[in-house]
Amino acid sequence: MKSICLLGSTGSIGLSTLDVLRLNQDRYSVVALTANKNIERLLEQCIEFKPAYVVVVDQDLAEVFNKKIEQSEAADTTVLSGIEALEFVAQLPEVDIVVAAIVGAAGLLSTLTAAKAGKRLLLANKESLVVSGDLLMSAVKEGGGTLLPLDSEHNALFQCMPDGYQTGQRAKGVRKLILTASGGPFLDLGLAELESVTVEQACAHPNWSMGRKISVDSATMMNKGLEVIEASYLFDMPADLIDVLVHPQSIIHSMIDYVDGSVLAQLGNPDMRTPIAHALAWPQRHESGVSPLDFMLNKQLSFEQPSFDKFPCLRLAFEALNMKGTAPAVLNAANEVAVEAFLNKKIRFIDISKLIEKVINNSTIKSADSIDSVLQADKETRMLSNQYLESF
Ligand code: NAD
Ligand code: MG
Repeated sequence: MKSICLLGSTGSIGLSTLDVLRLNQDRYSVVALTANKNIERLLEQCIEFKPAYVVVVDQDLAEVFNKKIEQSEAADTTVLSGIEALEFVAQLPEVDIVVAAIVGAAGLLSTLTAAKAGKRLLLANKESLVVSGDLLMSAVKEGGGTLLPLDSEHNALFQCMPDGYQTGQRAKGVRKLILTASGGPFLDLGLAELESVTVEQACAHPNWSMGRKISVDSATMMNKGLEVIEASYLFDMPADLIDVLVHPQSIIHSMIDYVDGSVLAQLGNPDMRTPIAHALAWPQRHESGVSPLDFMLNKQLSFEQPSFDKFPCLRLAFEALNMKGTAPAVLNAANEVAVEAFLNKKIRFIDISKLIEKVINNSTIKSADSIDSVLQADKETRMLSNQYLESF
C-alpha cells in the first residue's frame, strides 16, 4: 500500500486523481486531502476516502467545515487550516506520494516542501516549477525523492525518455523535444475576432475538461509557454531545443526527436487519468479508467506551426525563459493577475498578453537564487500588474 497526500483534491486534477485511486483501492490509501474553498465537495471526499488529515486553507471556512465533519462519518479526520498546514501535510513521514494539484503559485511552498522531504512528487502544478525552476529541481535532488510530471505533454516526454531516465537529467541522444499543443478554442479565429471573445468561449476547451485558469491559459497559449519553461527545467533542455507543434486532435501528447532520426511519441485519448495512473504506478502500470484509443475514430492527425502574432503569450514565455532569473516568476505572476481580471470581466482577452508584456518590460529581472527572491518577485509583480490593470 502507498499513502497519498493530494494537494488540491477538489479541482479538476484532484477529481481525476481520486477516480484513479478509486479504481485501485487495494494499492493506495489517502492520508491527506486539501482544498481552498469548496468544502461541500471536500466533505464528500472525506466521507469516501477517510483521510487522517484535511486542510481547508481559508480559516473561516475551516471552522464551518470542522462543525460539518464532526457530525459526519469522517469525524476522525483532523481538520487544519492556513497555508502552513499545506506544508505540514506535504512532509508527513507516513506519506509516500504527494500529488501537487493546486493551481498557480499558491502551490509553490507545499510543492517545495514535498520535494525537500524526498517524496515521490507527482507534479501538475506547473506554475511552481515555472516560478522556482532551479530551486525546485535542486530540492528534489537534495531530498532524494522522485519528480514525475503529470502534465500530459511532460508525462509523454518522460515516457519517451531512455531506460533509467530521471527528471532533471539531460538525456543523451536527444535532438529536440516536440511539445504538442491543441491550439485551444481560438485556433481558427483571426486576430480581429479575438478582440470580442468571451470568458465562456475561452473556458470551453475543445479536447480537455480543466479548471478555469488553465482553460484561459490554453486559449492564450500561455499554457504552452509555461509548459516550454516547465520542460526546460524538467528535462534540462535550452529553449532553442524545445519546439511547439500545433496538433489540434490532442492524440499525440508530445514527442522526442533523437539524433538517429527516430521520433518517439506517446499517444492516447485526451484524459488526465492516463498520466496520473502512469506516475502513480511508475515504473509499473495499472488501470486508469481511460478507454483504449480507437484509431478508426481518429484517422486524421494534423500538424501546424503556432502563430506568435495571434498568441503573443507564447513568445513572451520563450523570452522569459531566455532571460532566466526571476523572469519566469514575473511572467507567471503577471499572467495570474491578468487571467483573474479577464475571468472577472475587467479586461478583454487580447489585453491579457498586453498587460503581461507591459509588466515584464517594466520589471527588474534579478537572480532567482533563493526562495525569498522568487517570492519577492511574485509579490512585486502582482502589485505592479494590479496597478497597470487600472489603465486597461
Ligand atoms: P482547478 O481550478 O480545477 O483546481 C485547483 C485546486 O487548487 C482546487 O482544489 C482548489 O481548492 C485549490 N486551490 C486554488 N487556490 C488555492 C490556494 N490559494 N491555496 C490552496 N489551494 C488552492 O485547477 P486544475 O485544472 O485542477 O489545475 C491544477 C493544476 O494542474 C494547475 O497548475 C494546472 O496548470 C495543472 N494542470 C491541469 C490540467 C487539467 O487537465 N486540469 C492538466 C495539466 C496541468
Ligand atoms: Mg499540458
